[in-house]
Amino acid sequence: MPASEQDDDGGVESPRGLTDDALTVAVEHARDWIASYPDRRVPAEGGADDAADRLGRTLPEHGVPPAEVVELLAEAVEPALMASGSGRFYGWVMGGTLPAALAADWLVSAWDQNAGMRDSTPGVVAVEEVAATWLLDLFGLPPTASVGFTTGATMANFSCLAAARDAVLANVGWDAPVKGLSGAPGIRVLVGAESHGSVELALRYLGLGTPEQVDVDEQGRMFPTALASALEASDGPVIVCLQAGNLHSGAFDPFAQLTDIAHRAGAWVHVDGAFGLWAAVTPALASIAAGLDSADSWATDAHKTLNTPYDCGVAVVTDAARMRSSFRLHASYLLTASTVDPYEAVPELSRRARGVPVWAALTSLGRQGVVDLVDGLVAAARGIADGLEQIPGVRVLNDVVYTQVCVACASDELTRAVYAAILTEGQIMPSASVWRGHAVIRFSVSSWRTGPDDVRATVEAVTRAVAANV
Ligand SMILES: *Cc1c(COP(=O)(O)O)cnc(C)c1O
Repeated sequence: MPASEQDDDGGVESPRGLTDDALTVAVEHARDWIASYPDRRVPAEGGADDAADRLGRTLPEHGVPPAEVVELLAEAVEPALMASGSGRFYGWVMGGTLPAALAADWLVSAWDQNAGMRDSTPGVVAVEEVAATWLLDLFGLPPTASVGFTTGATMANFSCLAAARDAVLANVGWDAPVKGLSGAPGIRVLVGAESHGSVELALRYLGLGTPEQVDVDEQGRMFPTALASALEASDGPVIVCLQAGNLHSGAFDPFAQLTDIAHRAGAWVHVDGAFGLWAAVTPALASIAAGLDSADSWATDAHKTLNTPYDCGVAVVTDAARMRSSFRLHASYLLTASTVDPYEAVPELSRRARGVPVWAALTSLGRQGVVDLVDGLVAAARGIADGLEQIPGVRVLNDVVYTQVCVACASDELTRAVYAAILTEGQIMPSASVWRGHAVIRFSVSSWRTGPDDVRATVEAVTRAVAANV
């Protein structure tokens, strides 16, 4: 191996040459993959088993040169990829990737910084700190709040709820970080009846069991009267989980009323805003986002609405000291910053600098660009809803207040058949779901690429699928 980079002539066998070759092949494949969106099927072709066969299932006895590894990978796997970056992809709630965020993410891998400690990797920590400040500003949340970059909203919910758990127990004199949960006073956790499954998962990880469900209206919004009666005569530790962005309807809980009721009962209020917290950035959605800022913690994703690559979630807790005391670790080998270290706001110690693509996305968009991005997703969702409503036999089931559109046909059977026809054709990809007891086809508009042409193509694709089934 060459003694230094100067001695490395970049020849094919040198470390620099091998790296250059591998990166060049990766760039070519990445460009071709992204350029293929307009013409390719959106759903994946074949299954994981076929792709594994193409990769080869036997560990090579001797190594393969890096460029060939990347070539093999791309050739074997690309047919089996779902084109989630396409403007005609509406499955689940999955964003695309903005160009600057994608390129910044590559640098994050090349730089290979462990972003946990402020003083050892100051470059990427600075980027994340700036991104965090901008996020708080965009969301209208307190500038002193703690911000942690997690793998996604599931772990953001987990992080926030860890702080919530420790805080409500501290309020009754129980030091959970020291004493644990054995023998601790019981915590009541209340969630809306249509809360996302990841909240329940996070609560389970935290030893809080399955939460109590509070009744919701026909759009999935928690009834304030139901919360008030659930909290009547409640005097122990309580956590209330609200939702910004119902998975099926896109609806927002009435935050101002609900947080007022919860806070009067001494509860911690957490908001799962995986994709919905972004409504707070745009004046156009001020009415549904009203009161969001009155909660105590918020979870959101960057890999959904902001269109950064996987994986990136964001955990925000107003009481930064509380967050730190839940995640602080005392270890002699750590280089501890005089201020706050990134690992004090998330469950991981070592992690990639996943906040860097957030900074890149925000910088490339600018404040107005973030507003336009969110407004554009909502406009596309409304365009899809308006178009689908014109198709005889198709009903739009939700009030399209945000990015979600749920439709159904005359029967569950027909809805499923139409969905199957849509997937077989492959021009668009919504997701199949069950909402309020009925089969639905759900469009989650999450990609910065979705424009008027995609909206038109989407309505046409559904029209064809319906026509084929009547
Ligand atoms: C996607 C989503 C989650 C989970 O987020 P991940 O990034 O998949 O961990 C939580 N809540 C809601 C409302 C979501 O849409």
